[in-house]
Amino acid sequence: MNISVNPLVTKHSNLNSALRMTIGGAQVDARDGSTMPVIDPSTGRQVATIPEGKAADADRAVKAARERFQSPEWRKMKPVARQRLLLKFADLIEAHADELAELESIDAGKPLAIARNSDLASVIDVFRYFAGWATKLTGETLDVSVPRMPDGEFFAYTKKEPVGVVVGITPWNFPISMASWKLAPALAAGCTVILKPAEDTSLTALRLGELALEAGYPDGAVNIVTGRGHEIGAALVAHPGVDKVSFTGSVATGQAIGRSALDKMTRTTLELGGKSPVIVMPDANLDWAVTGAAMAIFFNQGQTCTAGSRLYVHRTIYDEFVERVVEAAKQLKIGPAFEDGVFFGPVISEAHAEKVMSYVDTGRSEGVHLTLTGERLDRPGYFLSPTVMTGTRESMRVVQEEIFGPVLAAAPFDTEEEAIELANGTPFGLAASIWTENLSAAHQLAAQVQSGIVWVNCHNLFDPNLPFGGVKLSGLGKDLGRSAVESCLEQKSVMIRLQ
Ligand code: ADP
Repeated sequence: MNISVNPLVTKHSNLNSALRMTIGGAQVDARDGSTMPVIDPSTGRQVATIPEGKAADADRAVKAARERFQSPEWRKMKPVARQRLLLKFADLIEAHADELAELESIDAGKPLAIARNSDLASVIDVFRYFAGWATKLTGETLDVSVPRMPDGEFFAYTKKEPVGVVVGITPWNFPISMASWKLAPALAAGCTVILKPAEDTSLTALRLGELALEAGYPDGAVNIVTGRGHEIGAALVAHPGVDKVSFTGSVATGQAIGRSALDKMTRTTLELGGKSPVIVMPDANLDWAVTGAAMAIFFNQGQTCTAGSRLYVHRTIYDEFVERVVEAAKQLKIGPAFEDGVFFGPVISEAHAEKVMSYVDTGRSEGVHLTLTGERLDRPGYFLSPTVMTGTRESMRVVQEEIFGPVLAAAPFDTEEEAIELANGTPFGLAASIWTENLSAAHQLAAQVQSGIVWVNCHNLFDPNLPFGGVKLSGLGKDLGRSAVESCLEQKSVMIRLQ
């Protein structure tokens, strides 16, 4: 294979080893030999190729996962053994964290320090957290009356059983984090898994496939396949051997997956897009709120499903607040993933850079005021600078549609009621943040915002124990927390007649 490795990558990355799929315990290429390029968004250069799996590869991955799921060895595995495997997997990820962070930086353009200290650190925590759940799953015993048999005596209980073969389909913005969100709860629940990472960012997932085998997962328990969403992804979702699909990505793809899955009653968790509001009350701690609002939208170049892309500030502090957010945006160090001190890397691809910039034009034609005008930087790679739009109105596309880039739409409000109306005024309901020092207001506003998660005086903070997932068009079901494990379990009711 002819690979020109990014010259900046020398220390830890073993790029060659992260280039094959893991199916049934073997490292394999696509059955028909097809490959797809791996592009480094910091340079725009191709650094490697990875397998472009197709329906035939989906099929062999499902067969391997099914066979393993049905094997006596797997079915009889004790919870404590599942826990140990997950802990071993976590230890190996930790031991290889520098390497994985480098792969993530090459692949997704994430500044290296962020990939290492944020993404990898959280992935290790996620695996260790879900390892704990393997030994803590419970059913219930229930007192039942059975009206039809008034003299009968019964014992009833529920039992949790692994749903079966779980397919995880992940997006390109947080590749290894999303992989951990899909793999860890399913494995804790006793399922076998097939992970299909996004075509733009598959390297860390492929490497996880090898580490899973090293951790001791038996053949077929953890499978990693790569390829195009509409081919191998769609083939996995439609496959009769799949019991559950856990998807994170766009609304349109999530809807298509949901429809296809419903044909076979395949279970789904769908974590979709957002247009998350940041509401700043007049009594907010402004230092926190300004930094928080800027980070909410500009972290990961705005490529975050929970990005705080709509800023609503009380009119009495609006002008000063926006000015300070613009100042904060101008301070962000933009540069390639491997440059020291960079906070703001490239966006994922040429096509995405064009899409984001086209929204800046859309805003202009809709009549927004460009308080800070984002520009395409004149250098190799896919670099854009941040945009702050003011004078926005609810009906505008730039306020209603997910841009998934560093583009902020700001507007003032006068009353709490108006803030809530604005916050709830899109089809999305993924996340929101409220900035206030008033405890009562915080709780009252949190109760009224339609979203899966509400942060108060913080934004974009996740914890493995805190369920995460959206309402409205932002999705169905939860990742993380106990809910994520429960979603990989079926509840069986058992009733025994004693008398
Ligand atoms: P984006 O538009 O940002 O690429 P998508 O929601 O289309 O986001 O992609 C998220 C993930 O879903 C990726 O792994 C992609 O390959 C996969 N995907 C895309 N289309 C389909 C599909 N029809 N069926 C299954 N997976 C898909």
